Amino acid sequence: AKKKGRNQYEMSNADISAGGFEKLLIENNLRRALENDELSLYFQPQVNLKSNRIMSMEALLRWKHPDLGMILPGEFIPIAEETGLILPIGDWVIRTACHKMKEWQDDGYPPIRVAVNLSAGQFLQNDLVEKIRNVLTEVSLDPTYLELEITENMVMQDVHKAIDVLQQLKELGVWISIDDFGTGYSSLNYLKDFPVDTLKIDRSFIYDIDKNPSSVALTKAITTLAHDLKLKVIAEGVENYKQLSMVKQFSCDVVQGYYFSQPLSYDHVVRYLNEYQSS
Ligand code: C2E
Ligand code: CA
Ligand code: CA
Ligand code: CA
Repeated sequence: AKKKGRNQYEMSNADISAGGFEKLLIENNLRRALENDELSLYFQPQVNLKSNRIMSMEALLRWKHPDLGMILPGEFIPIAEETGLILPIGDWVIRTACHKMKEWQDDGYPPIRVAVNLSAGQFLQNDLVEKIRNVLTEVSLDPTYLELEITENMVMQDVHKAIDVLQQLKELGVWISIDDFGTGYSSLNYLKDFPVDTLKIDRSFIYDIDKNPSSVALTKAITTLAHDLKLKVIAEGVENYKQLSMVKQFSCDVVQGYYFSQPLSYDHVVRYLNEYQSS
């Protein structure tokens, strides 16, 4: 077993250095990705189940590397967070999302809200509210068309500061949702004190909702809780009709997932909106 242990050690050592190398490669490339225009936003429609209309879309970051191809955020956001690159990247995401919304509104599409993901590092910046106010002014986008997605973990790091920041953001007029609700540190004690608009039920509760009674119970409980607190509920990761009919039955307000659409590139958003409007 000792011999094996030693071999394992050597193997995992090699693994670690390969991982470290890949990380360094991503980090160095990520520094240039912004300047080289390699980042783009995809948008995933969120469909309101009462009106059957698209009221909002979530902006999801994509990195098209010239040699490595498409890199998903799961691979580079954690590195961006560790290195602090998430701050300039996050600024770019907010500005670009607002610009695109304004552009589409100016082109005559019915106004749609864009939901932007925030990282903890961004949320804790002292000038976050100022930055967002400036972008909205610069782009001349009505604040009601911007939504910020935060997580329970982010607010639970410093509850009182978080409530203060959220209040300032609400005063600006933007929307706020709690993402991946139910998967992080429980914020149940504070939920009534958070000035938020929406809870997003995590995909992990939706994907087995047709087989797993616990997922049903959680989805029902979150929806009831949200509605009692006058919050809206988004079910994310809805991929098929069965899941759709179940979240509908539990009175979720909005659905996001492959059943309606994958995240779409700029061109595809426009095509999707054209088709959806005329259908
Ligand atoms: P998230 O915020 O929970 O975003 C939802 C993820 O679920 C997205 O993955 C989306 O493409 C995927 N998804 C949506 N519908 C379905 C479905 O029906 N089935 C399945 N299997 N997946 C679905 P994506 O785009 O790879 O993003 C992963 C995560 O990266 C996001 O999770 C978010 O935490 C983070 N992220 C993405 N863009 C940004 C950004 O601009 N800033 C920050 N800070 N984080 C971002
Ligand atoms: Ca999100
Ligand atoms: Ca989510
Ligand atoms: Ca998630």
